[in-house]
Amino acid sequence: MNKNISIRLFCEDTLGVGGEIILEKDQTHYLKNVMRCKINDRVIVFDNTTGEYVAKIINIHKKFVNIQILEKTKPRYVPGDVWLIFCPLKKTRTDFLIEKCTELGLRKFLPTLSDKTQTKKISVDRLKKNIVEAVEQCGGTFIPEITPVSPLSKVIEELPEDRMIIFCDESLENKNISESLLSVNSEKVTLLVGPEGGFSDSERNLLRTKRNVLPVSLGNRILRAETAAVIALTMWHGLVGDWHKRVDHQNYES
Ligand code: SAH
Repeated sequence: MNKNISIRLFCEDTLGVGGEIILEKDQTHYLKNVMRCKINDRVIVFDNTTGEYVAKIINIHKKFVNIQILEKTKPRYVPGDVWLIFCPLKKTRTDFLIEKCTELGLRKFLPTLSDKTQTKKISVDRLKKNIVEAVEQCGGTFIPEITPVSPLSKVIEELPEDRMIIFCDESLENKNISESLLSVNSEKVTLLVGPEGGFSDSERNLLRTKRNVLPVSLGNRILRAETAAVIALTMWHGLVGDWHKRVDHQNYES
C-alpha cells in the first residue's frame, strides 16, 4: 500500500495506530506549500521508538497540519552496534560523510578534534537535521545519535571498556580491515577515521598503546577521510554487521 507514497517524515512523538499528530512548522510548510498536499492524502511517518506507519492528512490549518495514523507498515530496525569517531571536514565533505554513513546504518557519530583537524567548528544541530533527512530518504526507522565535538583524547578515554576501536591508520601497509574485523570478538565496534591531515605521530602512538585499539589499513592508497569512513562502515556491515546477519536489535534504548 505504501509503495507509491513519496512523502516520508520523522515524527518526534511516539506513534500508534489511531493516534492523531499535529505536525510541526517546517513539516507543515513542506506538506502544504511544497508538496501541495490535500486532505485525505497519505504520508509515511516514523518515530525513533516504535516504527513506521501510513497516515492520512485529516486537517490542513494555516499554521499546522493534522494527520491520523492508519496502519503500521514496519517495526523500528536498529542497526548493529557500530559507532564512528570522525574529524570535522570541510562542510560539503562532512555533509557527505554524515549522509552516506547514515544511509549505511550506524548507531552513533562522535565528532572529534584531533591534532591536525582543520575544521574546528561544526553545527551539530545542522548535522542532526542532515541525519534525519537521510533517514527519511533511505527508509530507515532509527535515528543515529551525534555527540558534541570533543577532543580525541577525551573521546578515547570515555569510550566504554567493552568497545573495540578499529583505528583506520593511513600509515599502515598491511593488516587489511577484513581480517581485522573478522578477528574482533566484540559486538561493539567504534570505527576511527582521521582528518584531511591524517593522524599525528603522538596520536598514533597513543592509539597503538591502547589494548582495545586495532589499527587497520584500507588499502595502499590514501583515501579522503569521507571515503575512508564510508569504506570502513561498508566493510563492517558486509563482514560482521547488518548485511552479514540480519539481527533486529530491538532491545536497544538510545
Ligand atoms: N593527508 C593524509 C591522509 C589523511 S586521510 C596523508 O596524506 O597522509 C584521512 C583519514 O582517512 C586518515 O587519517 C585515515 O583515518 C583514513 N584513511 C585514508 N586512507 C587510508 C588507508 N589507506 N588506510 C587506513 N586509513 C586510511
